[in-house]
Amino acid sequence: MAKAEADVSLLQLESAFKWPDAPDEDKYSVCVHCGFCLEVCPTYQQLGDENQSPRGRVYLIKSASEGLLPLDESVIDPVFQCLDCRACETVCPSGVQVGALIEEARGQVFYAEPAKGMKGAVQKLFLRGIFPHPNRLKMVGKLTRFYQKSGLQAVSRKSGLLKILPKQLREMEAILPEVPATSALDSLPERIPQRGDKKATAALFTGCVMDVVFSDINRATARVATHNGLEVIVPKQQICCGALQVHAGDREQARQMAKHNIDVFLASDADYIVINAAGCGAALKEYPELFRDDPFYHEKAEQFSARVRDISELLVEVGFEPPQAEVKRTITYHDACHLCHAQKVRSQPRQILRSIPGVTLVEMPNSDRCCGSAGIYNITHPDMAGQLLERKMDDVPEGVECIAMGNPGCMMQIMVGVHRRETDLDVLHTIEILDEAYRREGNE
Ligand code: SF4
Ligand code: SF4
Repeated sequence: MAKAEADVSLLQLESAFKWPDAPDEDKYSVCVHCGFCLEVCPTYQQLGDENQSPRGRVYLIKSASEGLLPLDESVIDPVFQCLDCRACETVCPSGVQVGALIEEARGQVFYAEPAKGMKGAVQKLFLRGIFPHPNRLKMVGKLTRFYQKSGLQAVSRKSGLLKILPKQLREMEAILPEVPATSALDSLPERIPQRGDKKATAALFTGCVMDVVFSDINRATARVATHNGLEVIVPKQQICCGALQVHAGDREQARQMAKHNIDVFLASDADYIVINAAGCGAALKEYPELFRDDPFYHEKAEQFSARVRDISELLVEVGFEPPQAEVKRTITYHDACHLCHAQKVRSQPRQILRSIPGVTLVEMPNSDRCCGSAGIYNITHPDMAGQLLERKMDDVPEGVECIAMGNPGCMMQIMVGVHRRETDLDVLHTIEILDEAYRREGNE
């Protein structure tokens, strides 16, 4: 053995990851450096930089874990440039859990380098001050609705006041649908009987953004579920799932939110926990990851996550009724990353769309490539998010009238894309289209 090599092997290097929930050796040590993941990684495709690829990120995390690199920008930037889209996991022959490694590494950065100044204040306000508290979240919804309905929005737009906002926020403001007057959590009864014979009971997880901006989709989800023999219950004490906190590295806050939801939902008699937002669904299914060092809650989290289903997954599992009424639309489908890569749900939404008379489903090339939404990535990394959105819009097949998907973040991002292209494409949740068919059937 050469002398330098021998010296290094004798050194006890100190890991750069010193805080709880450090990246797990069992996860990074299985990477065989094959590189199959490079070609599917959106950031590698855009930047051509190995450090911004799954293999590069896994290697940087391993090196920092082993004390060969400090926790500085050389590690932090690639860890935060990652979309956490998990496309790499779909193709990885070794089953490397890149998403979990990235989230664990972000947790270390969260402890080591807490965001300061305005960025830190905004982060704290949203991650800890608003999202974990349903009443404050509702207040944000009410204020947004007031802004939209009172004439303030029209005045702000006319006066040019909105020019002070960053471009990405200006575009979000332009596309934000009218916020419904009530959330589904408030407006739906606690128990909604199924139509016909009961197949099972499903507890509806209403989510945060979904229930503020798209609560009509939650109501449609409840209608579609009961139409198909599922008794729906709506546990009123539920809170946001904590996915945004996990993505930002605030694992302690996410754990508290997960514990609350686990206790609330396990106390119900539901056979299933049903969700229509891909990012939240993935987070709920992965709650056990947050309790590696807590055997009591780990076991409860396992029981909880075993019941979680995306609505499309559940409908196919219990056997849904194909609608009889026609919805004449030519539709393409975008695979939300956290539905297709994280939850492996690909065929079920297509099966649902194809079952609707009058629907023509046209496959989109690269339908499972990230649209750039990725939680709050489109706000923290607007340039990369913008490039990915352009590629997504380029892939929309000619002649379609509607893009269907199963995640509110993707819906808002793709609405921005539609706005930029000045087209009149509809952006809808898969369940809205099925609900429309059932409702037409009821009116026939
Ligand atoms: S595909 Fe998997 S094993 Fe191969 S380099 Fe990528 S992460 Fe490592
Ligand atoms: S999660 Fe997505 S962006 Fe991150 S390394 Fe994997 S493919 Fe690339």
